[in-house]
Amino acid sequence: MPIRAVVWGENVHEQKNPVVAAIYPDGMHNTIARALAQEGDIMAETATLQEPEHGLPAERLARTDVLLWWGHAAHDAVSDRVAERVAQAVWAGMGLIVLHSGHFSKPFKRLMGTPCNLSWREAGERERLWLASRNHPIAAGLPDHFVLEHEEMYGEPFGIPEPMETVFISWFQGGEVFRSGLTWRRGAGNVFYFRPGHETYPTYHDATVQQVLRNAVRWAHNPAPRVAGDPTRAPNVPADKAPEPVTERGPKLHQPGEEGYR
Ligand code: ZN
Repeated sequence: MPIRAVVWGENVHEQKNPVVAAIYPDGMHNTIARALAQEGDIMAETATLQEPEHGLPAERLARTDVLLWWGHAAHDAVSDRVAERVAQAVWAGMGLIVLHSGHFSKPFKRLMGTPCNLSWREAGERERLWLASRNHPIAAGLPDHFVLEHEEMYGEPFGIPEPMETVFISWFQGGEVFRSGLTWRRGAGNVFYFRPGHETYPTYHDATVQQVLRNAVRWAHNPAPRVAGDPTRAPNVPADKAPEPVTERGPKLHQPGEEGYR
């Protein structure tokens, strides 16, 4: 069974900016999807902002193993309902890979719970990505470092919670450094943030970047069945349903069968 990936693209600058349109005539999402499908073990589809429900109705997320997210100019145009739906799918076990300027996307900020801010500069600088975790599955087959000749600079401090693992650290020509490949676990879902991918440079045509993305999809895929029902439920377990016998004692705030506060 191939891994079912969906590449979500904002698809705004590809339509409006001639430089971006020339690099990605079919949109970045299609370039990324083709790269994912290259080795046959990943089945990659696409979804865009402009589709109904942004291409991500609940039933589609339910059969998506890993969602990739690229957004930049239109984070606010993503409906809160769809962003919450993506977060819930991650908590239930869907993998999520957030790319480049997706650091400010609604689903990523929701899952991180922090501002996710950083410093930046658009000067076509050389970016050197260093492997910080040699045996990490996302780094499989990669050299100790690789170079993207033209990239936007993102600099520390990056306003994120401390990651589970740091897979890549980037150095930029102007002197800044940045944690550019980071993992988290949120509920039953694996989350990976990968920094490169500014739309005016051909980053997603780079063979090493494409290898990272395929590795990341394989890593983010959680083969266990999706958590059934609402992953945010917080059930009361009354004393007579406790796994071991327990006698109630002391004063009580809640009435039997009460819903409880959220
Ligand atoms: Zn950018």
